[in-house]
Amino acid sequence: MRKLEQLVFDNTFARLPEAFHSRLCPSPLPAPYLVSFNSAAAALLDLDPAQATRADFAGYFIGNRLLPGAEPLAMLYSGHQFGHYVPQLGDGRAILLGEIKNSAGEHWDVQLKGAGPTPFSRNSDGRAVLRSSIREYLCSEAMHGLGIPTTRALCIIGSDEEVFRESIETAAVITRLSPSHVRFGSFEVFYYNDQHDSLPVLADYVIAKHFPHLSNAPDKYVLFLNEVVTRTAQLMAHWQAVGFSHGVMNTDNMSILGLTFDYGPFGFMDAYDPGYVCNHSDYHGRYAYRQQPQIGHWNLSCLAQALLPILPVEAAKASLESFVPAYTEHYRQLMGRKLGLTQTSAEDMPLINTLLEIMHAGHVDYTNLFRSLSRFNTAAGEKNALLRDQFTDRAAFDAWARNYHARLQREPGTDAVREARMNKVNPKYILRNYLAQNAIAQAGRGHDFSEVDRLLTILQHPFDEQPEMGSYAAPPPDWAQHIEVSCSS
Ligand code: AMP
Ligand code: MG
Repeated sequence: MRKLEQLVFDNTFARLPEAFHSRLCPSPLPAPYLVSFNSAAAALLDLDPAQATRADFAGYFIGNRLLPGAEPLAMLYSGHQFGHYVPQLGDGRAILLGEIKNSAGEHWDVQLKGAGPTPFSRNSDGRAVLRSSIREYLCSEAMHGLGIPTTRALCIIGSDEEVFRESIETAAVITRLSPSHVRFGSFEVFYYNDQHDSLPVLADYVIAKHFPHLSNAPDKYVLFLNEVVTRTAQLMAHWQAVGFSHGVMNTDNMSILGLTFDYGPFGFMDAYDPGYVCNHSDYHGRYAYRQQPQIGHWNLSCLAQALLPILPVEAAKASLESFVPAYTEHYRQLMGRKLGLTQTSAEDMPLINTLLEIMHAGHVDYTNLFRSLSRFNTAAGEKNALLRDQFTDRAAFDAWARNYHARLQREPGTDAVREARMNKVNPKYILRNYLAQNAIAQAGRGHDFSEVDRLLTILQHPFDEQPEMGSYAAPPPDWAQHIEVSCSS
């Protein structure tokens, strides 16, 4: 376990040519204070959690003091936003301090989000507000708890400096950790700027660091694209299976490693609704829940386009064609597991789809229904009343339950064995908007961050019963049925 001064930086991205980034220091913020610290993420850096109690800790992670070995920079990228190419984005408010190498030999990007303006800020203030920082912090750790690939979050530091959004809010900096912050847009910027010589430099960098097994393959760029396609397909399947909507699936928010990346107006569905749009500003529903796999595929085609100068077009096409089968298979397996099936084939899809249809019709809570499905009793129909009561169309449920019952006959093991298996894949706790909202409201009342910490602890173990926390599994109360999440952050 290391002190702050003992953290080992090895800044490989900073060693890339100057065209890839812009060096600069974070801009200071007054009177920083610790909002929350995540020991689980600290372990990734070999950081002793006791360091968070140091008087100067907040200063380091709000960007007022620089850790020894840091080489701060803003990364260059562009991207397709809501279907349109935007030539120059880049880190407008996030500053990469560098990469910390842990004792296991892993590199972790340490990035301060909200650390002040950069050459890519485009007239914005370079800041992030406490509200959105709390949301990103909790959601990235919730996703990790759910077993879904994601960036991580080490801590939030607040300052009472005012930040202007729809209303006046206060500033915060979240420390985001990731194996890489390279995104699809990191490639697109060089393609559209006609800097094609930079494409193999970036691809070789990513391959050497993250896909070293491909380094010596003659068709390494094709294999690299294949990896990104597969990982993205798997990520989309995970999001769909857990009922998560990202909200801003622009190509600058798509991780080259298939991680859930850049949390903005995201949302977990309460009642099942395939048309769910979590981003209040997404007027046409481009990033609606049901669109996500298609959009993931479309975003990959943007990446493939950007890679065309370094790979054959036929290979790029074949790679993109592997998306749908990869997604379909992964989604099917994940949904089958949610139903307690050990093996899921295409024949099981009607069972899955019919359940979703009757859930949609009856506004059934997505998370809670699957969690309670583990108690489906194969011995006695009427003992499933608790399940049945969640549906408005009882006859439709009964018909579905007969098919489900028949299907379970082909599964090995007892009900109890199946229940235990299902409870490992159907979470009891997710980050519902109203839970985040409560923690944010409480934080605004005299710097009381206890609810942030409580939620963090609950969400890090979403499959555990945690009976004393049962109220956190409740669907939204009436006041929170229609919370609108703005994309301002
Ligand atoms: P996002 O939608 O958060 O992924 O951001 C899209 C782009 O806008 C990125 O280039 C961000 O760095 C930039 N951006 C977002 N908010 C701000 C801000 N408050 N100040 C400067 N740049 C920002
Ligand atoms: Mg972004």
